[in-house]
Amino acid sequence: MSTPHPVILVVNAGSSSVKVSVYTVPEAAHENADINPVLSANGQIEGIGVAPRLRASMADGHVVADESFPVSQVSDHDAAFRLVRLVLSIGLRDNPPVAVGHRVVHGGSDFSQAVCIDDDVIARLEALIPLAPLHQPHNLTAIRAVRKAAPDLLQVACFDTAFHAGHDMLAQLMALPYSYYERGIRRYGFHGLSYEYIARRLTQVAPDLAEGRVIVAHLGNGASLCAMHGGRSVDSTMGLTALDGMPMGTRCGSIDPGVVLWLAQQGMTADAIQSMLYGESGLKGLSGVSSDMRALLTSDEPRARLAVDFYALRAAQEIGKLAVTLGGLDALVFTAGIGANSPAVRSRICAHLETLFGISLDAGANEENGQRISSNGSRVPVLVLPTDEEGIVALSTARIMRECGRR
Ligand code: AMP
Repeated sequence: MSTPHPVILVVNAGSSSVKVSVYTVPEAAHENADINPVLSANGQIEGIGVAPRLRASMADGHVVADESFPVSQVSDHDAAFRLVRLVLSIGLRDNPPVAVGHRVVHGGSDFSQAVCIDDDVIARLEALIPLAPLHQPHNLTAIRAVRKAAPDLLQVACFDTAFHAGHDMLAQLMALPYSYYERGIRRYGFHGLSYEYIARRLTQVAPDLAEGRVIVAHLGNGASLCAMHGGRSVDSTMGLTALDGMPMGTRCGSIDPGVVLWLAQQGMTADAIQSMLYGESGLKGLSGVSSDMRALLTSDEPRARLAVDFYALRAAQEIGKLAVTLGGLDALVFTAGIGANSPAVRSRICAHLETLFGISLDAGANEENGQRISSNGSRVPVLVLPTDEEGIVALSTARIMRECGRR
């Protein structure tokens, strides 16, 4: 009987969800770094602590679990992670995972690529919690839960900041006293796993464009944009934390720092300000309706429309800013939940770019979420490419397994 292919788990612990994906590593991937692990199943819990719902399915779409739970049963990330793992482990009984790859939001200035997790790495990731309060603690919860269950299992951290590690000084600076830069108070950038995937994907679908100056708009619940040249990140709209840049589902994006001072002077604590800027602002705060773009696009509330209009203008403004950094624009790519699925938002953003960049869309291709949605006459090609952050984590984890001689 042939031995089964090694299995990798990929864990993506978000602010209110935990997603676990199961990948198998083909034999050829041990020799060739470009051969991707293959997704075989995934499961996720959404609505942790609010309205927990578990869903799990095989890669062919066959649903193996779809169940809601009382909050008391899945009140936190620890419980959610145990449950997803339990469901997926039913299918893994004969072939337990050989490694677990984690999406970790902040790698600070210490980590410019994926690393094997040990005590020292955990301590350094803990120190970064204040810079990613919504995500980093949950990433660490999952890492600790795996350590407890299987202390010898190889665990790998893949960072959302790492793809941006090559930014030059001008892209990293904020105009504070220079000593703060030396203490790590810099613009790091996030969503790097998504951008790394898009950079790879572009070399497959449009190799000519991949060599050039490309802006990628990752528009999901979190949202940012990345300027790439030759497939490398040169700037991003996010900064020290994942609050900067575009307004998002519940996060504010760039605001006058004087607002934070004013809030503090009004007596708001740092925790209260943090909750408001991360959880009550963005589309949710502006519209008073929802953080979910689908809900806003179908709402009759004037403030829902205002929020979408503001969002589109801010995205276009950020594209202009990044195009200046790049010294021009050879392609624009939309990705993530809104970017890959919302013709309405893409067309609102691109309408702002028509005069300055000569961008125009093919209405039919845009409506169908086609791969190339610009019209033939558009000066800049516009593409839609769904992202795959888990796939990049699986690929990096397989690489580290190879480097450690583990199979
Ligand atoms: P993500 O964080 O990448 O899963 O993206 C979540 C966001 O994508 C939410 O705001 C959703 O409303 C939005 N989204 C997903 N599908 C669509 C769609 N068909 N039209 C508009 N927004 C969508």
